[in-house]
Amino acid sequence: MTKIGITGDIHGNRTALRAVIKHGVGCDVWWCVGDLVGYGPDPNHCLEIIGSLGAFTVAGNHDLGSIGRISIESFNDDARTACEWTSGTLTQPNMDLLGKLPVKLSPAHDILLSHGGPVDPVWNYIFSSEEAGLNFISFKERLCFHGHSHVPMVFRTEKEGVNIGARADVEYIPPEWGVPVELREDSRYLINVGSVGQPRDNDPRACYVIFDPDEDMITFHRVEYSIEEVQERMAFAGLPERLIVRLAVGK
Ligand code: ZN
Repeated sequence: MTKIGITGDIHGNRTALRAVIKHGVGCDVWWCVGDLVGYGPDPNHCLEIIGSLGAFTVAGNHDLGSIGRISIESFNDDARTACEWTSGTLTQPNMDLLGKLPVKLSPAHDILLSHGGPVDPVWNYIFSSEEAGLNFISFKERLCFHGHSHVPMVFRTEKEGVNIGARADVEYIPPEWGVPVELREDSRYLINVGSVGQPRDNDPRACYVIFDPDEDMITFHRVEYSIEEVQERMAFAGLPERLIVRLAVGK
């Protein structure tokens, strides 16, 4: 009866992360699809919390940007400012930890974790069925849990559709909070688990997924937390105003 909590896009928001872990108290195992840092005021805390859970974790673009592993030139001004602040705030041991994270990993049989779509795990956004179709041909596992867009989404394709790529029949399954989605034996899935620390689907509550491998079901959850507390710490840290404001509206 294993239950796995899957988080992503935590973005240095320890209050949201703690609320999610408290909500998912029945989970035996935690996984993380990257972007532990960037935007938020608590990069070190978030790394320590995820480390204490022993979570299988992949690196996101903000994780790699904050340690100078990738260029942050394509980041917008606020994201770049926050990334530079994060670089100056991370401790050396935490920077080393980020440097060791892979960009893709398989934490269990037939399951892949990546930050963006696996076709380009650091940068690829999946918003449409067509983009999902292109990604389905880039990995072989049945389930891929990912993040990056901060918008929870599920795409399904039949196993036989794997070689058809963008022309594969891809079904979009809109997430419903607290309602289990039964995974079909004959299908493969791309599952964006949403964002813990900076949701962008017009719902500011923290988002995560519980995966029940015995029942072959996933459930999206939304969790309230004290956004004001985080906004205060962001202001104290001198992080950009627009980032502080967007937390409360979830976009
Ligand atoms: Zn992110």
